[in-house]
Amino acid sequence: MSRLVLKFGGTSVGDVDRIKNVARKVEAEVQAGHQVAVVVSAMSGVTNQLVKYCNAIDPLHDAAEYDVVVASGEQVTSGLLAMALQSIGIRSRSWQGWQVPIRSDDTFGKARIADVGTDALLAAMAGGVVPVVPGFQGVTDGGRITTLGRGGSDTSAVALAAALKADRCDIYTDVDGVYTTDPRIVPAARKMNRVTYEEMLEMASLGAKVLQTRSVELAMNHGVRVQVLSSFEAAPGSDLPGTLVVSEDEIVEQEVVSGIAYSRDEAKITLRKVADRPGVAARIFGPLAAAAINVDMIVQNVSEDGRTTDLTFTVGRADLDRTNAVLETSKDDIGFDRLASDPTVVKISIIGVGMRSHTGVAQTMFKTLADEGINIQVITTSEIKVSVLIAEKYTELALRALHTAYGLDRT
Ligand code: ADP
Ligand code: ASP
Ligand code: MG
Repeated sequence: MSRLVLKFGGTSVGDVDRIKNVARKVEAEVQAGHQVAVVVSAMSGVTNQLVKYCNAIDPLHDAAEYDVVVASGEQVTSGLLAMALQSIGIRSRSWQGWQVPIRSDDTFGKARIADVGTDALLAAMAGGVVPVVPGFQGVTDGGRITTLGRGGSDTSAVALAAALKADRCDIYTDVDGVYTTDPRIVPAARKMNRVTYEEMLEMASLGAKVLQTRSVELAMNHGVRVQVLSSFEAAPGSDLPGTLVVSEDEIVEQEVVSGIAYSRDEAKITLRKVADRPGVAARIFGPLAAAAINVDMIVQNVSEDGRTTDLTFTVGRADLDRTNAVLETSKDDIGFDRLASDPTVVKISIIGVGMRSHTGVAQTMFKTLADEGINIQVITTSEIKVSVLIAEKYTELALRALHTAYGLDRT
């Protein structure tokens, strides 16, 4: 007998029939003799709608009340699934985040889980009851509801699996595993049987939304065995080969580049003719940090006049208006001539632990993009990834060309 945490994403619980389908998957695992706890997302589209309501009331709404609103989607699904399980003879009940409790800090909108209470859930499971827990939500020490950032139900599931010492955490979604790149954009993408925590962490943080970044971090730190698989296949997770996220020593053969990710969440800012003197970078990025705006890629060039510099960097697209406002306010203090911003960019990243021991990997990327006539605007690298910023309209072309160039295409 194993202890399993099963998580079902938005599409997997998208309507009543799909919730009934999920109930049958849970039933199959229970009948195979496993102890099961379930984590559910909101029905697909619900969270987006709730976010829209908040923005329609006031774009500068209170973050704590935003969490009260958006956490409600998962509450609905948890109750519906518990009912669906009961109706096919499986004993089940829901536990809301505050009832478990899933305690978090009070960074409303992107809270971090501090710990997960296990007493009630373990007792329920031992007594043959399947607990259904809404993902995405937590509760502060002061008793207020929080949410864990978009895609946060993955993190709820992994945190629950770690706390319950589960043998596996199955993340059911609308694709049957983690692919070499987004299979919805590159039809030749290949499903990976295994991917390392390190690579999955990079892929997630560089845009592959199949797992929330924080969930991979937690899985890596707590050694949680995570499997990504499809809820649309007939078989349950214990019989189905999805993609396992594992440590490096469990991988036999390693590609140099194992995955390609993209992120459309970036916007590019260029400050022209910035005075070239010590301390100027601090005067630019200090006010942005104070406004809690994250800066990602940065590049500095000599201006046309040879005496000043041009500084280009990226911020989250959602932060673009605020960034422009902060920089205009600090213009005299920073000392620059002109500010230009461009939200129509995409960050494309190649990822692979094999990069540590191979040379020429980045060069292949640059040449492939050049051959397609795609201009690279910014480059950043780390030990196991190379990222480039290009015009958004080339997203598909670049992904497909790079996928072929690194020999990742399905044969
Ligand atoms: P859920 O609602 O189940 O949480 P998400 O929409 O958050 O599902 O994540 C699944 C989606 O992630 C897929 O439909 C796919 O388009 C996208 N995706 C992006 N990159 C990858 C990748 N490398 N492998 C698999 N899916 C990916
Ligand atoms: N419902 C939340 C979202 O759409 C959390 C999740 O689905 O993981 O972001
Ligand atoms: Mg998701």
